[in-house]
Amino acid sequence: MNRMQGGCQCGQVRYEISAEPVALYACHCRDCQYQSGSAFGMSLIVPGASFHLRGGTLKTFETSTASGRTKHCAFCPECGVRIYNTTGSHKSIKAGTLDERGGLAPQAHYWTGRKQPWVVLPDGVPCFAQDGSGERAPSF
Ligand SMILES: [Zn+2]
Ligand SMILES: [Zn+2]
Repeated sequence: MNRMQGGCQCGQVRYEISAEPVALYACHCRDCQYQSGSAFGMSLIVPGASFHLRGGTLKTFETSTASGRTKHCAFCPECGVRIYNTTGSHKSIKAGTLDERGGLAPQAHYWTGRKQPWVVLPDGVPCFAQDGSGERAPSF
């Protein structure tokens, strides 16, 4: 496979993903609205060990998920762009930071109960009013 690559807005941070992504979600929760400064976030779920920082440094902070787990959030300390969040063995890459974004279409939408009213959800794509189902919920 071609390794997916990406980086932050100012160019300081560069990264590479060395495994096939597990999933791509859109999330309409309040946290994703904050982090994107927009209506929803896009999360590319990858095995944590497949994320390789190739340039620059990341800064992290911690927050809590709705289910009470600790979420580590990594961002560029220069321009503030969020690169990924992680709550465990996988990383949730902020898909808008990828170099190649054309083929990205979310397989599911989460927290649609909080979506902006003008966002029209596509037919045939699973939608969840909250984050899915308990422990199996993806981590954004
Ligand atoms: Zn930056
Ligand atoms: Zn979210």
